[in-house]
Amino acid sequence: MADSRGSDSESDRRRSLISSNRRKNEAMNVIFTDPQILDCYICCERLSIPVFQCENGHISCSSCCTKIQNKCPSCNLAIGNIRCRAIEKVLESIKIPCRNAIYGCKMTMSLNEIDHETSCTHEPCFCPLDDCTFVGSAEKLSLHFSKKHKNTSKSFSYNARFTMCLNNGDSHRILQAENDSILFVLSYSFEIFGNAVTVNRIGPLSSERKFCYEIKAKTQGSVLCFQSIAKEIQGWSKVPPSKGWLLIPNEYFGSSTQTILEIRIWPAC
Ligand SMILES: [Zn+2]
Ligand SMILES: [Zn+2]
Ligand SMILES: [Zn+2]
Ligand SMILES: [Zn+2]
Repeated sequence: MADSRGSDSESDRRRSLISSNRRKNEAMNVIFTDPQILDCYICCERLSIPVFQCENGHISCSSCCTKIQNKCPSCNLAIGNIRCRAIEKVLESIKIPCRNAIYGCKMTMSLNEIDHETSCTHEPCFCPLDDCTFVGSAEKLSLHFSKKHKNTSKSFSYNARFTMCLNNGDSHRILQAENDSILFVLSYSFEIFGNAVTVNRIGPLSSERKFCYEIKAKTQGSVLCFQSIAKEIQGWSKVPPSKGWLLIPNEYFGSSTQTILEIRIWPAC
């Protein structure tokens, strides 16, 4: 009996040693059922270090302590001298995933470090075809488009001039680079004085990779030319944002209902 009890307590000891080592070394995934628990009770902003507490344990961020003249609004006791180290430690140790985690971003960051999200390259992009609901990172969208809609786009090579022929009533054409499958949209819209043409790139708005484009409209004896940097869009919309347009005046192509454009796109260095 004594022996068996001895070996039981030995294995218990080992088990608790293993589990305490695990706890020491491994990060834990935690779910906050109430994420507001990390907000300041007074200003409702996300808590940041230092965090103060009154003697009753009510907490406040440091700027609120000044605003409430160091008097706890819940119990009237003094607040602003005692730090709440436990909450501070929790704040320090929390890492949250990027909001684009579902689109493949692996980045995790501390609570007050949101800079990454404004420059995340995994921002979702939308398939530019009206009847398709695909959403994914720009990279995934390029793969999806190559696989599912290859014949609906014009493929081109960077730096090489190619011709696009638009009919009155066309609103846009999808262009896909042979080099890296990046998608561009050539937009064509009717304005009072003529038709406005621009090129946008489908990709994350914060992308550091920029592309230049040139649009030329030629008729006998005259050439209209416009060069700019393609603005990033997350999907096709009727009025795409633009850094400029080539305006092709009415009657520029005479009585023809077609607009023939020469286009060149290339990576900016
Ligand atoms: Zn506050
Ligand atoms: Zn209090
Ligand atoms: Zn991200
Ligand atoms: Zn699609």
